[in-house]
Amino acid sequence: MIHPSTRLCWISDEVGYGVRATRRIPKGTIMWALDPLDRIFGPQEVQRLGAGLWPALETYSYVDGTGNRVLCWDHGRFMNHSCRPTDLSPGVEYEIAVRDIEEGEEITCDYSSLNLESDLHCLCGAPHCRKVIQSHQFVQLAPLWDELLRDAVAHAAEVEQPLLPWVEQPEQLFRWAAHPEELPSSMRHYYPFRDEVAMHAAAR
Ligand SMILES: [Zn+2]
Repeated sequence: MIHPSTRLCWISDEVGYGVRATRRIPKGTIMWALDPLDRIFGPQEVQRLGAGLWPALETYSYVDGTGNRVLCWDHGRFMNHSCRPTDLSPGVEYEIAVRDIEEGEEITCDYSSLNLESDLHCLCGAPHCRKVIQSHQFVQLAPLWDELLRDAVAHAAEVEQPLLPWVEQPEQLFRWAAHPEELPSSMRHYYPFRDEVAMHAAAR
């Protein structure tokens, strides 16, 4: 479930739809959390769905640290990539705003944290845009993401948290707010399965 103060917007003909904030949202706010309406597909289920659904699944789902595919039921699935994302995830089932998000600003994550099967050309326009988004960038960027997340989680107890009901262990979040150094690494979401996916593609 994505933060309630967001809405689906048309970004541009090149990018398509995206998600924007409808009010200012401060750093440390949970921006997305896995909820029971989200659908989780194991690798076998993905294969059973067949090639016809693959383009939709590849576009709108992500792969978690266990190799399962997660398809968000709400407009969270339209969240675009940015090389300077507003949200990151510290190896748990939610994402945190790593900086203050202004009203109207696009809500973004970093797709190289989502275990991509194929490289993507980036249109984000950020000053340090990587131009091509690749799965292996996860490992390179994780230390930077962890630093941003530790800085952000320190604010988690002092900001409004409308998604807290969907956080499995909310007390853990508040402990990390007091002790950011204990926050798990984003590397917990890393799933190095590119070879396996390449095999599936060859079999189709
Ligand atoms: Zn970029």
